[in-house]
Amino acid sequence: MKEKFDAIVVGAGASGNAAAYTMARAGLKVLQLERGESPGSKNVQGAILYSDALEKIIPDFRDDAPLERHLIEQRMWVLDDESFVGTHYRSDEFNKPPYNRYTIIRAQFDKWFSQKVQEAGALLICETTVSELLMDGSRVIGVQTDREGGAIYADIVVLADGVNSLLATKAGFHPEIEPKNVALAVKEIHFMPQETIESRFNVSGDAGAVIEMAGKITKGMMGTGFLYTNKESLTIGVGCMLSDFKKQKITPYQLLEQMKQHPSIKPLIEGGEMKEYTAHLIPEGGYNAVPKIYGDGWLIVGDSGMFVNAVHREGSNLAMTSGRMAAETVIALKAADKPFSEKNLAVYRKNLDESFVLKDLKKYRNLSSVFHSNPYFFNTYPELVNQAMHEMIKVDGVDKKTKEKKIRGSFTRRRSLVGLMGDAYKLWRAFE
Ligand SMILES: Cc1cc2nc3c(=O)[nH]c(=O)nc-3n(C[C@H](O)[C@H](O)[C@H](O)COP(=O)(O)OP(=O)(O)OC[C@H]3O[C@@H](n4cnc5c(N)ncnc54)[C@H](O)[C@@H]3O)c2cc1C
Repeated sequence: MKEKFDAIVVGAGASGNAAAYTMARAGLKVLQLERGESPGSKNVQGAILYSDALEKIIPDFRDDAPLERHLIEQRMWVLDDESFVGTHYRSDEFNKPPYNRYTIIRAQFDKWFSQKVQEAGALLICETTVSELLMDGSRVIGVQTDREGGAIYADIVVLADGVNSLLATKAGFHPEIEPKNVALAVKEIHFMPQETIESRFNVSGDAGAVIEMAGKITKGMMGTGFLYTNKESLTIGVGCMLSDFKKQKITPYQLLEQMKQHPSIKPLIEGGEMKEYTAHLIPEGGYNAVPKIYGDGWLIVGDSGMFVNAVHREGSNLAMTSGRMAAETVIALKAADKPFSEKNLAVYRKNLDESFVLKDLKKYRNLSSVFHSNPYFFNTYPELVNQAMHEMIKVDGVDKKTKEKKIRGSFTRRRSLVGLMGDAYKLWRAFE
């Protein structure tokens, strides 16, 4: 391919599609390269889609996007081995259009998004891996692909190649991702009749519910589980930090199998036919692990930039927003006839800093180190909270004051009063 493009986008996931669509719509000549056989074939997500980010790119996406259920209920469970303590938030406000969050199936959704990108005028080539960036000194001038004669040139290259960006590492833009900054997640999709899902989760029509989980299901590792309702299937998964998996010597598959046996989870998924099993990394290093995301002739978007808010389980919306903002930066510079120099592209980072993407990551910047240094949060506290609830709810002739004393004793036996207060303070500071 001899022609030169205004922009090359590497990757056709959430961030790459957002970037390619926005630039193509503005009339730029865009080439998008994807190593998978089709967009979505390599992508994994729970998956909750957050409307706001997509609405800012394709306002009428609801007309034809493959959406599963709009979410009206969010459950949060803290589990021990036998029980869970939880909250449910359900609102009729979420049952009125325009809906705020949906479940989706990524393979279908990415194909739809990619179709929009191509309709906007971008050229997509699949089954093509970008093997390295072409440089002229410190400036990126194109990409080398695994196809014969595979050098392609562009004024700017947008790296939307996901969590393990080998290209950025190879070019020296950022170091290899560390196990303490990345979670490994596995998920399955279980099919079952629509009526079964609706009666088990107390929803009807296109409405859905999701359960986010933490506690002993992760065996003391820093991580969470989830169970989401699709139209005719459920998605169940669990993810923990890679550094913890290394220490714990349990495979992600074993962890998910054990989670599925939990007495509160098993009846919800019983009878389903498992049709899909996938595993993927999630960049959860947070604000302090965000690498350099711009330079002469290049920009980084999405997971490659560590843009995942693990606390709120948001990733695809940060990916789409960073993709859109990178594209808008490129469009503005081109319109002003300014070069894609590091200095000029710095506005992309500035805009992200002022958006929810980096504001949210900054807010939780210390949380990861608090959790890393304190396994009590994933093992001891979930157990103690569940035991406390059990003690208070069980009616056995023991007076409530004695029960409270017993609960206090169970806490201080496992963690000193100073330790308890210290943990509460650290947690409060990290969420502040
Ligand atoms: C189990 C799990 C559950 C999740 N749940 C949610 C959720 O419910 N909600 C949410 O918002 N987020 C969720 N996320 C996070 C979300 O999936 C990601 O943040 C989002 O997909 C990132 O988009 P991206 O475009 O940056 O990367 P990706 O979607 O990973 O896309 C990267 C693309 O680049 C391609 N590629 C990589 N290298 C090359 C190369 N060298 N040449 C050509 N192509 C290349 C890949 O094949 C891939 O298609 C979840 C993640 C996981 C793993």
